[in-house]
Amino acid sequence: MIKPETRASLLKFLQLLTAHHPSRRCRKGAGDLLVSFDDLYPTDSWSSHKQEEDKSLAKNFQICGKEVPRGYWMFCRGSKNETRGFSCGLWVLLHSLSVRIEDAESQFTFTAICDFVHNFFVCEECRQHFYKMCSSVSSPFNKARDFALWLWSTHNKVNERLGKEEASLGTGDPKFPKTVWPPKQLCSSCYLDHDQTSNKIEWNQDEVYKALRNYYGKTLVSLYKEK
Ligand code: FAD
Repeated sequence: MIKPETRASLLKFLQLLTAHHPSRRCRKGAGDLLVSFDDLYPTDSWSSHKQEEDKSLAKNFQICGKEVPRGYWMFCRGSKNETRGFSCGLWVLLHSLSVRIEDAESQFTFTAICDFVHNFFVCEECRQHFYKMCSSVSSPFNKARDFALWLWSTHNKVNERLGKEEASLGTGDPKFPKTVWPPKQLCSSCYLDHDQTSNKIEWNQDEVYKALRNYYGKTLVSLYKEK
């Protein structure tokens, strides 16, 4: 999927991971890949033979280390093989990045994430939907808080849409039904008003931002602290 027109978006996402991935080991791994990027993917040669060669070279880079086997999920483990996993992990990573950036990085982070998902996420439907939501943003982000809240609300829109789909089709993971986040048990102060009939929620966005920072900045990471 690394082509002349997608190369820059991968570089931008790796820059973001190098600076702000919650794990030091993964920050270092992403940085190592960045340092070797021009050798692995030189801009001047895009023959298919070269790309095949590069693919095997790039496999030597596992940015979070080789000890973690592929497909081994902790927080994102589904109750069935085909549920949760990568897409859950990607959301968790994106939220974790959103609470770590500085204000001046908000717009860069927004475009890095939108373009990475658009160019590299293998789920076609997800790429299209997410890109539509990215494209509907009309003015640049200049506050980290605004970007984190945009990502939160975008994720909730996806949850709402999929929740309905999964309920009618019986798909999804029965142990992890889609709901709005944060649930009241996690943050009751986030809810200013909740109309149960229409399921319309008036959020206290300051409290939601606090909950996001707490959950993705401390709680979640401390559960899986590296030795
Ligand atoms: P996920 O929705 O993956 O969420 C992971 C965890 O994030 C949850 O367990 C919860 O702890 C937390 N969380 C939930 N909501 C929020 C929130 N609003 N803010 C902060 N944290 C939250 N699937 C489709 O079928 N169609 C799509 O169009 C689609 N688009 C996607 C777009 C993107 C960018 C991504 C990353 C995934 C998309 N998916 C889509 C996959 C889908 O959203 C879920 O990731 C997948 O169904 C697994 O769901 P899950 O129950 O593990 O929870």
